[in-house]
Amino acid sequence: MLLEIENIRVHYGKVEALKGISLTVDEGEIVTLIGGNGAGKTTTLKTISGLRKLTSGRIAFDGRDISKMPGHKRVIAGIGQSPEGRGVFPGMTVEDNLLMGAYTRRGGGISKDLAEVYSLFERLAERRHQMGGTMSGGEQQMVAIGRALMSKPKVLLLDEPSMGLAPKLVQQIFSIIEEINRRGTTVLLVEQNAQQALQLAHRAYVLETGEVVKSAPAGDLLDDPQVRAAYLGGD
Ligand code: ATP
Repeated sequence: MLLEIENIRVHYGKVEALKGISLTVDEGEIVTLIGGNGAGKTTTLKTISGLRKLTSGRIAFDGRDISKMPGHKRVIAGIGQSPEGRGVFPGMTVEDNLLMGAYTRRGGGISKDLAEVYSLFERLAERRHQMGGTMSGGEQQMVAIGRALMSKPKVLLLDEPSMGLAPKLVQQIFSIIEEINRRGTTVLLVEQNAQQALQLAHRAYVLETGEVVKSAPAGDLLDDPQVRAAYLGGD
């Protein structure tokens, strides 16, 4: 098991945002977390990357307990995150934004990986000298994912990669995620766009108010009447 989360609880002040969540991600998988607003999806990703502290529970990654490991060490250990809202540096070029993703790395291979990111995102290659802040919303999303890939993660955490994108671009982002996985990176994906996330993922967890209420192969959830009614605008 690459990532194992056991019964984690997380609070914002007195509010309990995660009420004992357990989930696993195996090497090579795409796992998706779906659920309504405020279900705890973003908090789960932030807790895995070390941006939020656990109240209790345990997170193991690549055979090690990382529950108390600081965030920057988790990046070195192999956890890459593309955050909600993207966080592209507006006054830096696309290429410098991408290179920022590699700042924790030691050793070579950085230019090869940059070429790899450009092969996934042709648009970024064309715009490598453009300032991050002048890129469109969809392009900034690509920069954020590319930057996370530059840390050479074993698992890539993606928070709402399709948010705010035009339908054609949504399709493109989903096929790039599939390609990233095909090239060997494990993916944990948070999405409002449940239909497409379930079509892409191998397995899925449904979160409601800080708890896992269902977990199953993603294809099964596409046919699940409750999931259809709640998250797929179901018939
Ligand atoms: P959404 O899809 O709306 O982003 P989500 O499933 O990602 O939802 P979270 O953002 O993880 O949900 O939020 C889980 C709960 O924690 C919510 O009740 C939210 O109001 C609360 N919460 C999140 N961030 C904070 C914060 N910084 N301070 C206080 N409460 C917070």
